[in-house]
Amino acid sequence: MKPFKVSKRTRTIEYAIRDVIGFAKDLEKQGKKILYLNIGDPVKYDFDTPSHIKKALCDAVNSGSNFYGASEGEKELREAICEKEKRTNRIDIAPDDVVVTSGVSEAIQMSMAAIVEKGDEIMMPGPTYPSYMSYAQFYEGKPVFYRTVEAEGWQPDTDDIREKISKKTRAIIIINPNNPTGALYDEKTVREILNIAAEHELLILSDEIYDRIVYGKRFVSTSYLAKDIPVVGLNGFSKAYLATGWRLGYLYFHDPTGKLAELKECVKKETRIRLSSCTPVQKAGITALKGPQECVKEMVDKLRLRRDYTVKRLCEMNGIGCTQPEGAFYVFPRIQKIGSKWKTDMEFVLDVLNKAGVLLVPGSGFGAAYGSGHVRAVFCADMNTLEKSMDNLEAFMKK
Ligand code: PLP
Repeated sequence: MKPFKVSKRTRTIEYAIRDVIGFAKDLEKQGKKILYLNIGDPVKYDFDTPSHIKKALCDAVNSGSNFYGASEGEKELREAICEKEKRTNRIDIAPDDVVVTSGVSEAIQMSMAAIVEKGDEIMMPGPTYPSYMSYAQFYEGKPVFYRTVEAEGWQPDTDDIREKISKKTRAIIIINPNNPTGALYDEKTVREILNIAAEHELLILSDEIYDRIVYGKRFVSTSYLAKDIPVVGLNGFSKAYLATGWRLGYLYFHDPTGKLAELKECVKKETRIRLSSCTPVQKAGITALKGPQECVKEMVDKLRLRRDYTVKRLCEMNGIGCTQPEGAFYVFPRIQKIGSKWKTDMEFVLDVLNKAGVLLVPGSGFGAAYGSGHVRAVFCADMNTLEKSMDNLEAFMKK
């Protein structure tokens, strides 16, 4: 048999955040020590899932919650999600509006599968979280990046959104707080995006996985501002409850005028073909939402110190410009000499990896149009890793 030919849709998949790891592993094989600042996983460093939530998972397994769950998610968890969204984001949704998924990643896949037809355009922030780009393409749609403005803390440029809307546009994605830029969107800007969506009858998808991880300004949920405009909200447990490996997320339909009934039904059909998300993890998710919430504040307090440290160090380096993130745990600095000393951001990332032993992600992996010329680093690493990484990077930039 000739080498088996795989589908174009899988051959072309890219996910820069993990695609760069191979280069680091090769160096590790040669005995080099690598500092990983590429993946937004606090649990890989010195953060841990709160103990009462871990206990709830063990209890769920030991008490027999090891069966296939309901496809759309366990009812008690969906009820707890509604209470959480009401309490923290002032959103009124019913358990029937909620679908539990294996991480927000699956919620992205399911919503894109239900929305995108061949040739459809999906508007997303530039730079964007790569899954949106990849899944839009996977389903033969086209990602269209709207500009976010670095000089304004990476706020969306709503004029650019208006200009780029075409007859093929189906949806506008909002990622707030944002990965990779750490931007927290102004209420006025979100309202403006909602107005544009309403004018053109577009669906809004709002990824709010970092809603609890903000450092000063208050986060306001898109659905709260939307009033009578339909929104699909996406959120999960990976970040707020330090449970990245548990793979628990959800999406909900804020649908005050009943426009999303078919979408809701079809997403639920999608959940049936993958049976259910992990049942014991869902039980622990109920404890996470209903239990004490101090753990979230403690995490944010720790992250705030690391953000301040990382931004200060980066701003002091020659040839790097860095805006202060207001949410999430990423920095997205501009590297001035990309385009001259280094041809591309990938070339810069590989040079830093080889000479400084620090793994970053090239900005173009978040959409080249607005991401190139930058790199993304996480600041959810432990202080020791952050300090060493910044020392190495500073020495590298000096040279
Ligand atoms: N959405 C955004 C904006 C993210 O940053 C991430 C992960 O980093 C995800 C979704 C995926 O999260 P999950 O672990 O819930 O799949």
